[in-house]
Amino acid sequence: MTNYGLVIDQERCIGCQACAVSCKQENNVPMGQFWNRVLTEGGDKIDTPSGGYPDDGGSGSLDMQYQPTACQHCENAPCVKVCPVNATYTREDGIVEIDYDKCIGCRYCMAACPYNARVFNWDDPEHMPEEGTGDVAARPQGVVEKCTFCSHRVDEGLDPACVVNCPADARIFGDLDDEGSTVSKYINEYETNQLLEDRGTDPKTHYISGEMSPGRPQTSDKLESELDDVSPWSDGAEDVPSDDGGSDSSESGGSHHSIEGDAVPHVPAVGSGGDD
Ligand code: SF4
Ligand code: SF4
Repeated sequence: MTNYGLVIDQERCIGCQACAVSCKQENNVPMGQFWNRVLTEGGDKIDTPSGGYPDDGGSGSLDMQYQPTACQHCENAPCVKVCPVNATYTREDGIVEIDYDKCIGCRYCMAACPYNARVFNWDDPEHMPEEGTGDVAARPQGVVEKCTFCSHRVDEGLDPACVVNCPADARIFGDLDDEGSTVSKYINEYETNQLLEDRGTDPKTHYISGEMSPGRPQTSDKLESELDDVSPWSDGAEDVPSDDGGSDSSESGGSHHSIEGDAVPHVPAVGSGGDD
């Protein structure tokens, strides 16, 4: 059965926010809200490095690593369990969605989500531009919303907007249950982690850190067949991962510190214009 998931290569991510912006446009996400955010290791503000400046008493050793984050479409989704009216549900393909007609705005799901992935429409939502580029209707005041993996695009055989618009090839979308899919190949090839693994939510987003994956052609619907025909790591690069799934990260850079998967502060809440 299809089980959609996402791989994000943190070594490839350049923090350009193209995923966050394209998500807003594609999905008509209101001003002041983000379904898709690019966090940094050093703090809640964008582009905040970890480490300290000498003027502030630090060693001057600074490090920057980006962690794009959104709804993790958990296999074991706490938001689905707590919703009293079944407005939040998991589709057969594993995407967690919200039925806005059923949602009563109780926000139990926001409290239950350990990833702060959900946002509440407090006021009459303001959109800029007025219409997004996707065919996604604006949500009404008083409901909770979040990333849908662009399910309207997935239903047409397309990748999510954030995946298509990432200029660094840092995002890969596909079927986790298909061993031959691109996401499965990357998860098998690289050491990946999920956020807050100890919570038992089994998120569908897997992060690569410490070793940069090879770039891929951006024509997403051709990715899997092209990977079968022409391995992306057979392009003459010297740091080719071995066929047995092993790879030597010491040869391929990866000097950044990885963000620990169990660190709640890396998933801060998003200001929603309400009481936060
Ligand atoms: S679009 Fe790609 S490179 Fe840019 S912030 Fe998002 S994941 Fe990183
Ligand atoms: S806010 Fe809406 S989706 Fe969330 S738990 Fe309440 S009814 Fe369900």
